[in-house]
Amino acid sequence: MAQFRINILGCGSASPSMRHMPSCQVVDFRDNLFMIDCGEGAQLQLRRLKLKFQRLSHIFISHLHGDHVLGLPGLLSTLDLNEKHGSVTIHTFPEGIKILRQITDFFCEYSSFDILYEPVSHKGGLVFENDALAVKAFPLEHSKPCVGYLFEEKPKQRHLIGEMVDFYNVPISQRAALKAGADFVTESGEIIANNRLTTDPDPSVSYAYCSDTRYMPTLAERLRGVDTIYHEATYDDSKAAKARQRGHSTAGEAAQVARDAGAKRLILGHFSKSYPDEEIHRLQASEIFKGELFIADEGMKIDLL
Ligand SMILES: [Zn+2]
Repeated sequence: MAQFRINILGCGSASPSMRHMPSCQVVDFRDNLFMIDCGEGAQLQLRRLKLKFQRLSHIFISHLHGDHVLGLPGLLSTLDLNEKHGSVTIHTFPEGIKILRQITDFFCEYSSFDILYEPVSHKGGLVFENDALAVKAFPLEHSKPCVGYLFEEKPKQRHLIGEMVDFYNVPISQRAALKAGADFVTESGEIIANNRLTTDPDPSVSYAYCSDTRYMPTLAERLRGVDTIYHEATYDDSKAAKARQRGHSTAGEAAQVARDAGAKRLILGHFSKSYPDEEIHRLQASEIFKGELFIADEGMKIDLL
């Protein structure tokens, strides 16, 4: 079972190319699949990567450009053909919900699963939460309203120290409270501090998906302490003016964001079709960012835990 894994389904920019698919990723978090963006061909890529349709529960859309959203009608129709159960929740801007609802009402009228919509504010905010994970949207700067998504593991449970728990005869019924940080009170009323019975939890891991955006120096502050950052790098540094004009970033700019945020890993993606490969992106980013650098490619899987 994947604990926290990023799957790259598509990492090309808007104009179609023979080398890359449009934007789509799947975060596999403890076997629950969270899709981010859904470019054309997403359903085929899910199959190629052997990601199970039944486990897909949420789709987060960064913005309403075709290369990030036009895979949805096909994907949802196919989920129906596969008799998916339960529900899929699509998180997008209110204006996107309006359009998508018309499409899904028409093509998925008697769908085997529920298609739910959750509005995302242009300003961002919390969009999903369960016991173990929170997903927050944050604004980016593109030619249309656009948000990135931050996946944050919640603080994990403390580890019990077996011999101390035995020594104090801690009843099984109270062990969950100890893992959550509570002190233990013995039958005679003695208070045993939690740190004598437990050790620190494993660190919580986080992942930020920075979709289409021009270079935002303030983004590093917003993402400080995030372990792994995906950042678009449509162009190389020689095309910085074009990138700015079109609401995109260069490889060096993406690297600056990751470096200034103190990230451990950087994944570059959303590559323009004008490059025969991404070696120039790798070169320029690696001069600035000294952590682990990935050049996204379809089929790539990166384990964050
Ligand atoms: Zn795009």
